[in-house]
Amino acid sequence: MPELPEVETVCRQLEPEIEGRRIERLEVIDARWCEPQAPARLEAAVDGARIEGLGRRGKYLLLALDGEWTLVMHLRMTGNLVLVEGDRKLDPSEGRRLYENERSVSERHLRARFDLDDGRQLWFTDPRRFGEAFLIDNAGLEERFARLGVEPFSAEFTAEALGAMAAGRTAPLKSFLLDQKHVAGVGNIYADEALFRARLHPLSPAGSMKTEHQAALRDAVVAALEAGIDRGGASIDDYRDARGEKGTMQDEFLVHTREGQPCRQCDEPIVRIVVSGRSTYYCPSCQVRLRRRPRRRPARRSP
Ligand SMILES: [Zn+2]
Repeated sequence: MPELPEVETVCRQLEPEIEGRRIERLEVIDARWCEPQAPARLEAAVDGARIEGLGRRGKYLLLALDGEWTLVMHLRMTGNLVLVEGDRKLDPSEGRRLYENERSVSERHLRARFDLDDGRQLWFTDPRRFGEAFLIDNAGLEERFARLGVEPFSAEFTAEALGAMAAGRTAPLKSFLLDQKHVAGVGNIYADEALFRARLHPLSPAGSMKTEHQAALRDAVVAALEAGIDRGGASIDDYRDARGEKGTMQDEFLVHTREGQPCRQCDEPIVRIVVSGRSTYYCPSCQVRLRRRPRRRPARRSP
């Protein structure tokens, strides 16, 4: 399922290709893609518009159009946004296989298609059809995302800010990280990877972090997401980048999906548990389970 690094990869690849282009026509093939907005309404607003930019907020893609509208898209479970050249996927590198018949980006799963004025097309493909899009005016955009959590790469994402969000919370750290109201863009993969990097057990109550844990977790979230971006995202299932290629982060996971395999730090087998209904992977030896309440100093035992 695409998270911040996957969405960011798509965004970075696509923006230089499509910025300034005019969308000649949008065809919404599956009305569920933009429900409850009517496909005709989206098509009317998008047809003929110039693309001012493609941005990201959390796991959302923001296609800014000239005039007052932004088309917001979310890939959800199996959505992909691919640039297609004529009837072939964009592939700048010679000799690389084109993914014409691949399920993830195949025409069979096309939900919406944008015809650009340079003859290329942008395809939103989505086998499981949970991906979505909606049109919003620029005034509404700010309000729509006001309640979404802090951007992990922004200056506002500090150890103190993380500590303030976690204060008093008894929810497990894993659930805390999955909640998009806290840190935007972190999902199941990168929450596991960040908690391992911070050496924190996923079931530790969020409010039990001491100052040093907050600092460690803040840095770990950023490092885990950066690792994902550096490797073009993780393609466990259907995720493909804007060129239809797989990312390679899945080959370098520290703990995620590595049940029973040796910890990269201590060789102890990685354990899988379920937290908030999601598979969660951790090292029982490297990751410390914190007490419910932080204590100012460690309890002393009498000799
Ligand atoms: Zn370990």
